[in-house]
Amino acid sequence: MQPVSSYLKAVKAKAAVFTEVGKPMEIREYPVPDPAPGDALIRITLSNICGSDLHFVHGLGPGVKSGPPRVMGHEMVGRIAKLGEGVTHDGCGQKLSEGDRVVYPYWVPCGACPACLRGDAACQQRYRHWLGTSCEEHPHFRGAYGEYYYLRRGQPMFKVPDDLPDAMVSPTNCILSEAYFGISTAQIELEDVVVIQGVGGLGLYATAMAREKGASKIIVIDRIAGRLELAKQFGADVTLDASSTTKEQRLQAIRELTHGDGADSCLEIAGTPAVVREGIESLRVGGRYVLVGNVNFGPVGEFEPGQVVRHHRSIHTVMVYPPWIMPKALAFLQRCRARYPFDRIISHTFPLEKINDAFEFAPKAIRVALQP
Ligand SMILES: [Zn+2]
Ligand SMILES: [Zn+2]
Repeated sequence: MQPVSSYLKAVKAKAAVFTEVGKPMEIREYPVPDPAPGDALIRITLSNICGSDLHFVHGLGPGVKSGPPRVMGHEMVGRIAKLGEGVTHDGCGQKLSEGDRVVYPYWVPCGACPACLRGDAACQQRYRHWLGTSCEEHPHFRGAYGEYYYLRRGQPMFKVPDDLPDAMVSPTNCILSEAYFGISTAQIELEDVVVIQGVGGLGLYATAMAREKGASKIIVIDRIAGRLELAKQFGADVTLDASSTTKEQRLQAIRELTHGDGADSCLEIAGTPAVVREGIESLRVGGRYVLVGNVNFGPVGEFEPGQVVRHHRSIHTVMVYPPWIMPKALAFLQRCRARYPFDRIISHTFPLEKINDAFEFAPKAIRVALQP
């Protein structure tokens, strides 16, 4: 790691490079780029392995299977190493200086496609500078698994409050903001009953957020006992272990908890189509189902359309998030950190050089971080 002040020298820094599905990532060195006007260079202090990164290294994900060598990873926090000309303030209007700790969305909307023109964050070209381009080309540092990250015009930065440690804020630009967007899409009302399918990191945040929104009963479902136990500390009232119960038993439990009515909303965070049918059937008449975790093209599931139509249930989705959510997500961490053990979401940290070991270990952990 080069000290911040040395960025101007023609120094090199490390990044973990993904070349092919099934091959370990390689640590390579690239020249540290100087940011162009409107851009910025970030010295990464912590990056995480997200569920989607685990899918990516197995070739699942947009354009991942074949393509140039790439720096993977998208969840991270870092300090400003250098600001390009004209970059002076963060997305909240706070003055920026080199050395400030910041978070930022990991994608760059193109600004010109029909989705962008409608103000939808799910621009289909949003990863073109990351997954779409070789890290052998300038500015090299296109993902989270390196010592630096090259931030572009169109990626707003948000200053991180000093009292929040890196391990608490590093999930902000992915699962924390995604949980916020999911909870906001679920339109939870005071005293609602909420079901959450899957309580990895994202589901744990969603549980705490549902609690803060005033849900009266939060029912969480997972297959891993340790996660269910932790979910109670994040505000869950009832935990259902999917490894020892049937779908019918879980639906029966939810009906009993709601006088036969069903839940007001259910969030799918499990990332598998196998849970969709159950999620829909857990709802009351007019209940809302929010798909968050099923992000991959390919896997197919089934549900009974009549269960949606006859019960006037609705299905919603969230993909990435509008960036205004990020400062709110940071404020949520700051306000609620005494109530929920946010420091338990990052459960393990590996040095960046051990990235392949970290990827092997990650499916067994709540969340694994990499220290450059
Ligand atoms: Zn992610
Ligand atoms: Zn676009």
